[in-house]
Parts: sequence; C-alpha cells; structure tokens
Amino acid sequence: MRVLVTGAAGFIGSHVADALLARGDEVVGLDDFNDYYDPARKWANVRAAQTHPHYHLIQGDVRNEILLAELFETGSFDRVCHVAAMAGVRYSIERPRLYESVNVGGTLNLLEQARRHDVTSFVFASSSSVYGVNNAVPFREDADVGRPISPYAATKVAKEALAHTYHHLHGLHCTGLRFFTVYGPRGRPDMAPYLFTKWIAEGHPLTQFGDGTSRRDYTFISDVVSGVLAALDADLPYELINLGRGETICLTDFIRVIESVVGRRAVIVEAQPKPGDMPITHADVTKARDLLGYDPAVSVEEGMQEFWDWYQREVGKR
Ligand code: NAD
Repeated sequence: MRVLVTGAAGFIGSHVADALLARGDEVVGLDDFNDYYDPARKWANVRAAQTHPHYHLIQGDVRNEILLAELFETGSFDRVCHVAAMAGVRYSIERPRLYESVNVGGTLNLLEQARRHDVTSFVFASSSSVYGVNNAVPFREDADVGRPISPYAATKVAKEALAHTYHHLHGLHCTGLRFFTVYGPRGRPDMAPYLFTKWIAEGHPLTQFGDGTSRRDYTFISDVVSGVLAALDADLPYELINLGRGETICLTDFIRVIESVVGRRAVIVEAQPKPGDMPITHADVTKARDLLGYDPAVSVEEGMQEFWDWYQREVGKR
C-alpha cells in the first residue's frame, strides 16, 4: 500500500511512517518543518526513515494547493494519513487564524485532492479536545461535540464535519481518530510528560496548573500507532473513533510516576488552571476495540520509563 503521511516529521506522524515502512508499505511524508518547536527535533525524527528505500520526504505546506495538486497527480496514493496540524491548545488561543488556516484549510485541501484522485481511505487526526467540558465521562463517540472550548478544539470539530461532507458527497472513506494525550519517545516538547520530565530532571520548579486533581487519559505512542495502522487497513466508510488508553490518572499521581522514573523529587509551584484546559479526559475505547481490534497495552509507569530512557539518550545529552 502507498500512503501519504502528512505531519510525517512530527511526533505521531514519524512513528506512523516508521511503522508503515517496517511492515512493507511505501510512504510519502509531507511536513513543513515549522518552528512551533525546534525543527532540529523533527529532522531527528525522520533520520531513520530517510535511509529507507520506500520512503520519500517532501518539505511543504498543506495550505499550498498547487503543491498538493502536483503531489496527488503523480502520487498514486492508496491511503492518506493526515496528522499534520498546529497542535497545542494554549497557543491556539493566541493564534486562532493560524490554526484555522492549517487545520481546517489544510484538511480541506487534502480532502479535495483525495476525492479527485480516487484515494481509497482518508484517516485523520482528531482529538479528545472535541469533547469540551460538558460531556459525561468516559467520552463516547456519539457525545455532543458542538461546544468546544478552544480554537484548537473547534478546528478539530470542523475537520470532522468536512470529512463527513466529503464522505457524503463523494463517497470518500474517512476515519477521524480522536487521540487522547499521546506521549512517548519523540514526544512533543510543549506537552506535560516532556516538560515535567525536563523540569524534574533539571531540578527546575514545576508549574502545576490547578490543584493536581485534573485527570488525563495518557496514551502511549505504540498503542496509538497500532490504532492508526488498523484504521488505515480497515478502510471504514465514515467513523470517528477514540484512541485512548481508557484509564485516567490525576496530575498529582502522574507527577509521582515521573519522580519515581527520574529518581528525583519535583519542586511544585501551583498556578491557576489555564483557560481552554479540560478538567478531565477519559476515552471509552469500546468502538476502537470492536472496529479496529485496538487493545492498548502500555501502562503509564511502563510508558514513562520508556520515554525517560529515550529522553536521556536523545535530549539529556544535548
Ligand atoms: P507534532 O506537532 O509533533 O506534529 C505535527 C506535524 O505537522 C509537525 O511536524 C509539523 O511540522 C507538521 N505541520 C504543521 N503544520 C503544517 C503545515 N501547514 N503543513 C505541513 N506540515 C505541517 O504533533 P503531534 O503530537 O504529532 O500531533 C499529530 C496530530 O495528532 C495533530 O493533528 C494533533 O492535533 C493530533 N493530536 C495529538 C495529540 C497528542 O497528544 N500528541 C492529542 C490529540 C490530537
């Protein structure tokens, strides 16, 4: 199978590309290597894939319609795995137009090319953030997502709506995967697992937003990748599917896990919760189990140990 992976140099996209190559698929990776975080980290993420004969990397922007038209004209893609996005809830509050243009406009460009060039299946990254604050936990895919609480979340709801439109009008098979706080090697440096590990390792005070009772469903990268590959293979007509671990941990206990892995105590400074942050995320993964055979296997303790091993090798040495 020949797959276009957008956001291929990012955290999740680079792991998906590696996993596809490892099982024998051909991958064309697209990424604009923007500086939301250090592009050197993104180049490090694609280093191994670039030595693979079935990998081709293109540096470009999903907002560039001409580039996408050329890419699809010659690409002969069986599948698109669209994970490029401006991620990060807090920054979206400062730069809503940027999020709208990349996440909504970029997705629309890709859907348009996918339907023009007979792509079989379009799998894209949505997010647990679509559930906002008012839904019953654990979150189920049939919950109302009409009340997002950040521009980022609103763009994810819009992507889901556009994908449904393209399915309805053109029969394009689309699956939106709602990821729940993904962490692991190559993890994003703006996210809590990375930042907390860094601060604890360096003896730097750790800013804890809220009183430590907020809860997150942390999902290890290898579990997410297995769900993404299963969705690419399943070729479902139109579905939205949670990919979480299906368990939550409170912030205080999460910090305890990192302290134990790093072998150092955190110096905690409490701050007010940030607007746009959700008090809890918790996935009901029944649908993923039923439709994709998804079976998340990695505990937070195991996953953070693996993250820490990578962090010492790849970040600690810099
Ligand atoms: P990431 O920032 O590491 O990866 C995104 C990649 O997309 C980056 O390499 C970036 O350079 C690229 N990109 C951004 N704008 C682009 C553009 N205009 N054109 C081409 N490439 C562009 O983030 P990630 O954590 O790997 O997230 C991947 C996807 O999963 C995103 O859609 C994100 O919203 C979603 N998601 C992630 C999480 C998580 O916990 N990491 C949770 C929910 C949803």
